[in-house]
Amino acid sequence: MATQAHVIWDDGFTGYNFGLGHPMSPVRLDLTARLCREFGLFEGSDVQVDAPEAATDEVLARIHDEAYIAAVRKASLDPSAPLEQFGLGTEDDPAFVGMHEISARIAEGSRLVAESVWTGSAQHGVNFTGGLHHAMPDRASGFCIYNDAALAIDWLLDNGAKRVVYVDVDAHHGDGVEKMFWNDPRVLTISVHETGAVLFPGTGFPRDLGGPDAEGYAVNLPLPPGVGDGAWLRAFDAVVPALVRSFEPDIMVTQHGADSHFTDPLAHLSISVDAQVIVAQTLHDLSHELCGGRWVALGGGGYEVVGVVPRSWTHLVAIAAHRDISVETEVPQRWLEDVAERFGVQAPPNMGDGTSERGRIWWRSWESGYDPETAIDRAIMAAREASFPLHGLDHWFD
Ligand SMILES: [Zn+2]
Ligand SMILES: [Zn+2]
Repeated sequence: MATQAHVIWDDGFTGYNFGLGHPMSPVRLDLTARLCREFGLFEGSDVQVDAPEAATDEVLARIHDEAYIAAVRKASLDPSAPLEQFGLGTEDDPAFVGMHEISARIAEGSRLVAESVWTGSAQHGVNFTGGLHHAMPDRASGFCIYNDAALAIDWLLDNGAKRVVYVDVDAHHGDGVEKMFWNDPRVLTISVHETGAVLFPGTGFPRDLGGPDAEGYAVNLPLPPGVGDGAWLRAFDAVVPALVRSFEPDIMVTQHGADSHFTDPLAHLSISVDAQVIVAQTLHDLSHELCGGRWVALGGGGYEVVGVVPRSWTHLVAIAAHRDISVETEVPQRWLEDVAERFGVQAPPNMGDGTSERGRIWWRSWESGYDPETAIDRAIMAAREASFPLHGLDHWFD
């Protein structure tokens, strides 16, 4: 029988470390893995946990320029080398010793779980160390060195997948993945994010729809700052499922950046873990409805590294393992004590934020009517108006 969930992890992944003071602290990965272990999610015959070797340069070169890979290798040996034209040694992406190897391992992790899911050795795959969606073909960007999501999608296309959907719910626009498949109608990228008018990377607007051979195969749903659970769920539901259904994907790759959370220090959305779980469950359910459960789930951003990321991605692993954890479940005491001891902070006591009724959140569906007076509805309408007709969908009614 196929493994239920193939998960990427070993402690070595905490080596993806830009140094003290950088928002992307490896603590978030360590605490996620510890919380998964507390729930027994890394145990049992239905879950396989693997720690792959680094992707080879030949594999990386399928999506990155050789000159860029050489630059990362150089920075990895000598972090003081001047490589700013490759985005390295910058404030966002400081170089560090071992940068190439660990980034290439993360990339291989996403490729590997995609292979397991595609070949049927696992039903779902999770790489919460991945989702590094800003990495560009020729440069590092936004804390991302190698684009593991793009590498996984490229492998799937190269191994027989005809249609791959990529859904990105990180607070930031999934610009690197969009760029790599911009003119490729085999890949539908959908990014739901805080508007680039306010937030890095400043891109991802509704009229950005893909290249001349793939118009409509890049979809962007930029949201105003401050959006809360009800509006976020309304927006997601009004745009994502209809497009994914109409595309009829062979497999889904999803990015679950947790920086949409109301306590995240970098973005300005106002989403709870409860709502993040609902979106992850919805994407999981869509994979069963549409593509035999072929689903690869990745991490991404998330800078409230103690209070949010570990809970959000433990839920993600649990969903993939078909061992869903209720948001009312208490966070295990041992994990809370460890966090208090090491970081001197009191982490949230429950696996949700108390914003839902047993995991359910009330929100108004698109069918209940469009209200042009609200910023959220204008944002939804702009995305639907731009993209839906290109897929034969009606932007008012479908
Ligand atoms: Zn499933
Ligand atoms: Zn982000």
